[in-house]
Amino acid sequence: MKYISTRGKVSPIGFIDMFLMGLGDDGGLIVPETIPTVSAAQLDVWAKLSYEDLMLEIFSLFTNNEIPESDLKTLIKDSYAGFTSPDVLPLTTLNDSLHVLELFHGPTFAFKDVALQFMGNLYAYVAKKQNQVINILGATSGDTGASAISSVRGKEGIQICILHPNGKVSRVQELQMTTVQDDNVLNLSVNGNFDDCQHIIKELFADIPFKTKYHLRAINSINFVRILAQSVYYFYAYLQLPAKARANGVSFSIPTGNFGNIFSGYLAKRMGVPIKQLILATNENNILERFINEGVYKPEGFRSTHSPSMDIQIASNFERYLYYFSGEDANAVAARMEQFKAEGQLTFTEEELARIQQDLTAYSVGNAECLETIQIYQESYGYLLDPHSACGIAAYEGAGRKENGTFISLATAHPAKFDEAIRLIGIEQKFPERIQELFDKPQRQVVVDNAKAEIVAQLEGFYRLEQ
Ligand SMILES: *Cc1c(COP(=O)(O)O)cnc(C)c1O
Repeated sequence: MKYISTRGKVSPIGFIDMFLMGLGDDGGLIVPETIPTVSAAQLDVWAKLSYEDLMLEIFSLFTNNEIPESDLKTLIKDSYAGFTSPDVLPLTTLNDSLHVLELFHGPTFAFKDVALQFMGNLYAYVAKKQNQVINILGATSGDTGASAISSVRGKEGIQICILHPNGKVSRVQELQMTTVQDDNVLNLSVNGNFDDCQHIIKELFADIPFKTKYHLRAINSINFVRILAQSVYYFYAYLQLPAKARANGVSFSIPTGNFGNIFSGYLAKRMGVPIKQLILATNENNILERFINEGVYKPEGFRSTHSPSMDIQIASNFERYLYYFSGEDANAVAARMEQFKAEGQLTFTEEELARIQQDLTAYSVGNAECLETIQIYQESYGYLLDPHSACGIAAYEGAGRKENGTFISLATAHPAKFDEAIRLIGIEQKFPERIQELFDKPQRQVVVDNAKAEIVAQLEGFYRLEQ
């Protein structure tokens, strides 16, 4: 298996090189040259596997044996050892047709842990095996940063710098990032919003001399390993269902911002998981919903919502979808992305729109609707949703084609992480101990302006050039 770029200007590379490259050197996103498929019979065999063993099988299709199986097994085992549920990602049944896959039992209580705990271990593995300097750079709307920091704090050979928008992440998210005292962690709190942070990161990764000099490594969902690690839970959720419930396929409702969570589902579907409807749930920052329902991909004014981890205007992984939508035509993708850069928007024809709508359904959830959903599900099922997971449920309610039978809605964060929103509807919750104890710890962070030069200066003082 080799990996190529959606813009066609990266010569094919192997698994570890792909992992280290992150964003393609040509500015595109990295994708596998071909998507391996899994037969229904194989899926049935996999139904008996634990989460870890299932992940091992799926990754083995992508790693070209570049990581010996016993090493890969250990990496996977270590990555999920810190998850508090014995199933790693438990599936909770709410009623005959609706199940919730809880992705938030990792160390930072959000679904980012599923991929990032593994990526942190993989970085440490590569640092050691290849004597590589690993300087991680990432932008976060809150959860990625906390999770990435947790995955590499204190690890030998790795430095990590995370940019987050000052004052625009939840209190718990901020504390999870800034109370870490390890010297290999730098938190930059940027006076701007998440898109400003991501924009700077994208520029730095596109600056090849800078990227090369500092051995910059990505942790955002521009990294294909993250997408792949997330596609495992689509297999897992499907296989956890009783055979009868999944006999005619299942549909997923997916809170997404950067198109990462849903693209992982799209990949799982292409690999052979019988997924009927992929429902893309957005909040009021609904560029993706407008793309799917109206055929226009165009950023609009930024809005702060109850689900800040989805407050995103420009979705990096959109380009991966565009690549498959264009029949894997890299020139067509490059042309569209040029056009987007020049005109600030992309429009799709009626015929194209019809094809997009075959792949994806979309629903955007307003702030009031989000809170209402939390309230209703608390009353009806005694089940407390966080605001991101509530977007998934609201989208299922609003756009799920009920004849599609079985639905799985992804719960992407623990409600305690977003208590600010939960309190608005008068619900009181008890914090898990690991969250409660954050409030007493001292914080470490540097506040910077939304200015590339200032951020570069911070990085130059922090990163290491050799091990
Ligand atoms: C990151 C995040 C999402 C959205 O994931 P994408 O990768 O942007 O699709 C949804 N919910 C929570 C809680 C998150 O942290």
